Amino acid sequence: MDLNRLDDRLKADCEKCAALCCVALAFDKSSVFPFDKAAGEPCRNLESCGTCKIHSDLATTGYMGCVQFHCHGAGPIVTQDLFSGGTWQTQPHLLRPMMEAFWVFLRLQEQVLLLKHAANLPLPEGKQKELHAFLDELCPEDGWSWDAFEGLDHAKVSADVKTWLTSLRDVLA
Ligand code: SF4
Repeated sequence: MDLNRLDDRLKADCEKCAALCCVALAFDKSSVFPFDKAAGEPCRNLESCGTCKIHSDLATTGYMGCVQFHCHGAGPIVTQDLFSGGTWQTQPHLLRPMMEAFWVFLRLQEQVLLLKHAANLPLPEGKQKELHAFLDELCPEDGWSWDAFEGLDHAKVSADVKTWLTSLRDVLA
């Protein structure tokens, strides 16, 4: 994976997403979200066109959680790469598979972000190769296909990335 393309893959582009964070995430009533919302329940502020009707007022109306949330590209990857721009709002049967993929990619994209930061460290050649191998696996050159997604052992790769990141402590000490 070309490091210069990572920012594109990590971009939270809401126009390329099917409002997945507004339906897939569960929120508890708190100082950053004003009511309880279960995972899979569309937010009451979400419009049928997929936009938030209070978008410009989120910070002043008790929705700082929405302001602070970043999917690191998980939403666009799921919506565009895996579902070809489809949305659960017009095809309700897509809701469950889109949410399940979104939950996986939230975790994977967090790891891509950590790997991107690690790429700026003065790593020895061996560690650089390992880092690029992870990025090749987590950021397919032509985007995600269903075959690639279903073939990925995401729990294993997540654990491997975590172990690898921890190993940098010794390398950089
Ligand atoms: S308040 Fe707006 S941005 Fe936040 S979850 Fe609801 S629709 Fe989405």
